[in-house]
Amino acid sequence: MGVTENGALADGGARVTRPLASTDPRAGDTMKHKTRLIVLGRQGAGKGTQCARLAARLSVPHISTGDLFRAEAANGTDLGRRVAAHLDAGSLVPDAVVLDLVAARLGNTSAREAGYLLDGFPRTLPQGEALFEVLGARAADVAVELHVPTSVVLPRLAARRVCQECGATFSVPAGADEITRCPRCGGPVTRRSDDTDAAIARRLATYDRESGPLLVWLDELGLLVRVEGVGPPDEVHLSLLEAVRSRVPELDVDYGPAPN
Ligand code: ADP
Ligand code: ZN
Repeated sequence: MGVTENGALADGGARVTRPLASTDPRAGDTMKHKTRLIVLGRQGAGKGTQCARLAARLSVPHISTGDLFRAEAANGTDLGRRVAAHLDAGSLVPDAVVLDLVAARLGNTSAREAGYLLDGFPRTLPQGEALFEVLGARAADVAVELHVPTSVVLPRLAARRVCQECGATFSVPAGADEITRCPRCGGPVTRRSDDTDAAIARRLATYDRESGPLLVWLDELGLLVRVEGVGPPDEVHLSLLEAVRSRVPELDVDYGPAPN
């Protein structure tokens, strides 16, 4: 996707060296716009699944930095090689690298006009500040935190299996028969490389430490809505939709059967 071609990462620091957008961020304000949404949540909150459904419901692209990084790593690109160790360890990729990736994805006007659901970005305060600095106040209409207690996410993450072919996720609770082949496509089903006990512990600690200040900041901006993530997936989906509607009253959504 061409994100590795510029020299923005040379110093390895957290500075934003390439703007996310070159046009006036206020240009689109008078037009009817697609929703721009940030979704945050602890690992194992069910964020990936819920984000895919919500993005489909709102007809906006679902942009998951974790998925983008995993795809780069799987394809063995320069960027993938640089982030693989971070992914496996469950530590954060440096802000400058993340911002480069997001710039490549959101850097043009048509991408911004299409709206977006940002899943996994921003997740540090500097990333949040960079997003708003460059895209302006309209960088996000709302930020939703999908909240699930640690006692619930720990067993969920330990049970999580992912199909290497189609990306479908499955749950294998302790004591249940292991799944090795995907029931949908026959592909190999494995644990995510960062779903080891050590990496899980590190990711959860990092969320509290790095995303905590971001959540406070988003709340101060009046953008944050908390949604309870424990419960049947269909109910969580509707709660997320209501949370978005609470900040985007003119939202045009189809309340028909949930997608997926
Ligand atoms: P998790 O739920 O474990 O955070 P993700 O799929 O969202 O899973 O992200 C997987 C990994 O990708 C993270 O552990 C981190 O190494 C990297 N990553 C994704 N998004 C970001 C980000 N915004 N900032 C830094 N690292 C990120
Ligand atoms: Zn599959």
